[in-house]
Amino acid sequence: MTDIVWQNLAVTKQMRAELNEQKPCLIWFTGLSGSGKSTIANGLECALHKRGQRTYLLDGDNVRHGLNKDLGFSNKDREENIRRIGEASRLFVDAGLIVLSAFISPFRSDRQIARDLFPQGEFVEIHMSAPLNICEGRDPKGLYKRARKGEIKHFTGIDSPYEAPQAPELTLNTEEKSVAECVADIIEYLISHDRIK
Ligand code: ADP
Repeated sequence: MTDIVWQNLAVTKQMRAELNEQKPCLIWFTGLSGSGKSTIANGLECALHKRGQRTYLLDGDNVRHGLNKDLGFSNKDREENIRRIGEASRLFVDAGLIVLSAFISPFRSDRQIARDLFPQGEFVEIHMSAPLNICEGRDPKGLYKRARKGEIKHFTGIDSPYEAPQAPELTLNTEEKSVAECVADIIEYLISHDRIK
């Protein structure tokens, strides 16, 4: 691949961001299945949209229907899943958008690879920290039930580990906070860190 050189383009990331009148970034939700990633990401996208921000939401299940439909849930495939999502997110951020991504992304090293694709401040990691018993009790897609019966292998929290972030930009305990409170906390974080006005 050494004979492939990067093509410099005339319209830059900064020009696109300026036209959009915003600072593009990636807001990365990580947490157990049922911890509330999709719900909060959806709520946040609505709130940002109302504030006039240009956004795009990449959601785990949807991406696995298309871009990553060839991937399973082995550690190697999970790593490739997150690598592609990181790269796709980078393209959307480069396009001038505020990107939200909602994936379990259980491994610290994989999230670090995604983080390393972005300049300081552009990768905002949000840990959805609801305890396993709460997530399992919610079981919005019935997946825990199936995993407990052995119908799904390598299910995060059951027979595959979840490595919580050590220094996320934000931690939200969705057992204690409502959806509206979680969204408000993220908006407040983005304002106080000069990501949005
Ligand atoms: P994930 O994307 O992490 O798998 P989902 O957002 O699909 O999780 O599911 C979370 C479930 O928990 C939803 O049914 C949602 O309505 C419910 N829920 C209850 N309280 C909260 C909260 N404070 N934040 C997010 N979700 C909550």
